[in-house]
Amino acid sequence: MENCIFCKIVKGEIPSRKIYEDDELLAFHDITPMAPVHFLVIPKKHIRSLMELETEDIALAGRLLHKAQELAKEPGPGGPEGCGENGARFVINAKRDGGQTVDHLHVHVLGGRSLGWPPG
Ligand code: AMP
Ligand code: ZN
Repeated sequence: MENCIFCKIVKGEIPSRKIYEDDELLAFHDITPMAPVHFLVIPKKHIRSLMELETEDIALAGRLLHKAQELAKEPGPGGPEGCGENGARFVINAKRDGGQTVDHLHVHVLGGRSLGWPPG
């Protein structure tokens, strides 16, 4: 999709600090980390938001979530700290009230410290 930052990252037109890549998924460090570990996992396919997920993308969404938790458990996906066994926060912001700023579906993985709730 033209003018989508994350599609440009997928195409290599904008640099990113990649953590993982396969045919359909990409994970990279968030440019403005909110925790010691903060990375994003995205489908390479341009899906505008979770609220625009189509039935045909259900399996892809499942693999997206599965990969997010798998990377969170690895020793150092977000740097030397990693989330390890201590847990993590998996966040999907959707549309305006959800605080979505990049209109390409992404899962935030945050960890490396105890995170407060509610988010505010
Ligand atoms: P959201 O508010 O859920 O749409 O989150 C978008 C996230 O993308 C924010 O946490 C940004 O810091 C992050 N972000 C924006 N541009 C880039 C970029 N070029 N590389 C890595 N992360 C980015
Ligand atoms: Zn996109």
